[in-house]
Amino acid sequence: MAGNPLSLPRRPHVGILALQGDVREHALVLRNLGAEVSLVRRPSELAAVDGLVIPGGESSVIDKLSRAFGMQEPVRAAIAAGMPVYGTCAGMIMLADRITGAIDGQETFGGLDIVVARNAFGSQVDSFETELEVDGFDGGPVHATFIRAPLVTSVGDRATAIATLPDGGVVAVEQGSILATAFHPEVSGETRFHERFLGRVRSAA
Ligand code: GLN
Repeated sequence: MAGNPLSLPRRPHVGILALQGDVREHALVLRNLGAEVSLVRRPSELAAVDGLVIPGGESSVIDKLSRAFGMQEPVRAAIAAGMPVYGTCAGMIMLADRITGAIDGQETFGGLDIVVARNAFGSQVDSFETELEVDGFDGGPVHATFIRAPLVTSVGDRATAIATLPDGGVVAVEQGSILATAFHPEVSGETRFHERFLGRVRSAA
């Protein structure tokens, strides 16, 4: 078999939007799962990948830089064309069709039929960790790390909640090839969201 590379499945080639945020943590998880990972800052780099991760960080900064780098329209077009995407925290905010608590003029890529409240957990519990059940995951609950996290305050008809806090607050959502979590699996050794994303990339590529 080693002599016949055509018989091997192609490694998924995925990008991480690398304008701001926890890019390295995502790259590490995805490379450990066997993906080829490229950092994406330009339209030509986006065109070369089969899926895109939008990291956590500061959504207003990612928004400004994405417009400054001419990335807003290409990312919107890629999402509309069905490219698998996965956003964590600020990345979830960037994927939401509507947001509350935005700074003046803040925009998102959109595509995901949800409303997200930025910094929804207030200053006392800016950051916390908890165990969450996620629909469709085997192997027990997810250890979820929330860092100045958003909350999904409305899930539209096209989107599906896949994880909620004990009080019912929605913190993970799926819609076709779009996956988004309000928390950061990439910092807690949790790989199942990235595996689900890579599975979509493999079937779409
Ligand atoms: N509070 C940040 C924002 O509004 C998100 C925080 C995060 O990504 N950890 O973009």
